[in-house]
Amino acid sequence: MSDESTVSLETGQVAKVNLLGLSGSRLGDLFEELGEKRFRGTQILKWIHQMGTCDLDDMSNLSKPLRTRLATIGEVRLPEVVSCQDSVDGTRKWLIRVEGGSCIEMVYIPERDRGTLCVSSQIGCALDCAFCATGKQGFNRDLTTAEIIGQVWIAANSFGQFVPGAPRRVTNVVMMGMGEPLMNFDHVVDAMNLMLDDNAYGLSKRRVTLSTAGVVPALDKLGDVSDVSLAISLHAPNDALRNQLVPINRKYPLREFIDSARRYLDKMPDNRRKVTVEYTLMDRVNDRSEHARELAELLRELPCKINLIPFNPFPGADFKRVTNTALNRFRDILHDEGYTVTVRTTRGDDIAAACGQLAGEVNDKTRRQARYKRRLEKQQVIKMIEA
Ligand code: SF4
Repeated sequence: MSDESTVSLETGQVAKVNLLGLSGSRLGDLFEELGEKRFRGTQILKWIHQMGTCDLDDMSNLSKPLRTRLATIGEVRLPEVVSCQDSVDGTRKWLIRVEGGSCIEMVYIPERDRGTLCVSSQIGCALDCAFCATGKQGFNRDLTTAEIIGQVWIAANSFGQFVPGAPRRVTNVVMMGMGEPLMNFDHVVDAMNLMLDDNAYGLSKRRVTLSTAGVVPALDKLGDVSDVSLAISLHAPNDALRNQLVPINRKYPLREFIDSARRYLDKMPDNRRKVTVEYTLMDRVNDRSEHARELAELLRELPCKINLIPFNPFPGADFKRVTNTALNRFRDILHDEGYTVTVRTTRGDDIAAACGQLAGEVNDKTRRQARYKRRLEKQQVIKMIEA
C-alpha cells in the first residue's frame, strides 16, 4: 500500500497517485515530470489542505488542460468515514475505513484553550501492550501517508475549518491513536511534515506530538529528521514490570529507551524542550509508593514532565482503574521529588474513546484477535454460569 501509483494484480490497471499524501516538494516533482513549473505543487497543496478541495476541477488557478492531464495520473482519495460519535463531554470519535476494508479510529478532544486530535498510524498494533485495547485487535498493516494526513483533513472538514475565516479547531495533533508510530516511520514522518507545513496545516512543532513505546533505533533516527514534541510511554519504573506490561521492553530496556529520549532532546536546537512521560496507573500493578520513588530516580537525568493516566478499562481487560487514594499518593511523591505532574482527565469514556480504548475493526493478520475473542466468550460463559 503506497501513496504512489500502483498496478493492481487482479485487474492490471494502474491506480492513480493519491495526491492527498504527497508533500509540496513531491507534488513539485510531479508537475516537473508533466513539463510544468514546480510552484504548481504548492498550489495543489493549498487547495487540498488549506481549502479542503479534493476535486481537481475546482482548482481554478490551474488551467483546464493541465487539470485534465493531472487527472489522468492523480486524484485525491480520502479514507471513508463510517461513523462519527459525540460524547457527552464534547469528545468526538470517528470510525474510518481504509483500503483493504479494515477500520481505524480517531478521536478529537476539545479543551478550553485547544483542540487535540489523536491520530492513528497503523491498523491495529503489533506491540501488544498488556493494558491496551488496540493491541488485542492484532495487526493488519501500516497506514499510508495519505491515510494518516487524511484523518487530519476529515477532522478539519467536519469542524468547518476549511471555510475562509473559520477558527482553527484542530490546534494540536498527537500520534497516540492506534499503532506504534515509529514502526511506520517514513509515512508518519511525511504526514507530520504536512501537519507542520505552512502551505498545509501550519501547526507548530510544539503542537504535534509523537508518542512511542520505545522503538529505540527509530527514535534515534527521528531526531535526525524531525523536531516534533516527544512523549514516551513508560508505564513501569523497572524492567521486570515493564517487560510484562510493554513487551517491546524486552528488546529495548528502560535505560536504553530513556537514553534515546535524552539524545532526541539533545538534537533539538531549543534546549528548553521537555519529554512528556506517560504512565498509565493500574490498581495494585504499578501504583505503589515504591514505584513512584523508583520512577523519580529513573527519570532524574531526563528533562521531562509526567502525565499520569488512570487506566481506562475495556471488555476483557486484566486490570482495574487506579483508586483515587493511590493516584493522589503517586502524584504527590513525584511532585515532592520536583517533577511537574499532570493527571489526564478521562474523556470520551461513554463512547469508548478514552486513552487505551481504541479498537477499530482490524482484519487481523496475527492470531491475537481470535485469542482475545475466545477469552471474551469464555468470560461470558463463566458469568452466565455464575448468574
Ligand atoms: S499502547 Fe500503543 S504501542 Fe502499545 S499496543 Fe497500544 S497502540 Fe500499540
